[in-house]
Amino acid sequence: MSPSDPTPATTPEDVPPLNGEPLPLEFSNTVFPVRGTLRDGFRTPEHVSWWLRSCRHLFTTSLLEPDLAAVDETDAHCFVLLRDAARRLIDAHIRGHDPDPWDVAQVNRVSALGRPWPALRWEAGRRPAALHCSTAPPVVTVQAEIAQALVELLAGIAPTLPTACPAPGCVFFFDAARSRRQWCSQGCGNRARAARHYARHQSTTASGHSSI
Ligand SMILES: [Zn+2]
Repeated sequence: MSPSDPTPATTPEDVPPLNGEPLPLEFSNTVFPVRGTLRDGFRTPEHVSWWLRSCRHLFTTSLLEPDLAAVDETDAHCFVLLRDAARRLIDAHIRGHDPDPWDVAQVNRVSALGRPWPALRWEAGRRPAALHCSTAPPVVTVQAEIAQALVELLAGIAPTLPTACPAPGCVFFFDAARSRRQWCSQGCGNRARAARHYARHQSTTASGHSSI
């Protein structure tokens, strides 16, 4: 934390797991099950701030604590709208379905927000560096970054293979291109194997009974 970030970070109740997926998938995985019920990881501005703070390494936009403290209800609503559109588009992509045109328009609208540009900073005696500048607040430019990463994922520009986790009750997407995984996490793999074992055991028991 830098000297300009004096606020201690607090974690709100029921936050989504961070699975280390590429940005559009990590963003989409902010709908998550808690004790059998789906929760929205963006249901309050504090939840959006927490997620952005936890994932700021995924953005070129720099997010300082004052930027995160300024996240409000309108921002949270925008995050939910973009996230829900992203989930439907990724799902359509995986299933080979046509998208809802509203979702495509939503992503394209957000992708154009802020329009960051690189600016040169070159101080005497130092090496030149590129700064990412924008006329929009950081909480808006990060939404544009998410939308742009989603466009690259769905258009096949990014080397990502979005996959829906097949484990029972799981709603997460993961990148199957990065490793030869069948599930989003080890926990889901264990649950899926246990469910298969249970189903096999049940069918064996049932056939055993029928033979009596
Ligand atoms: Zn899973």
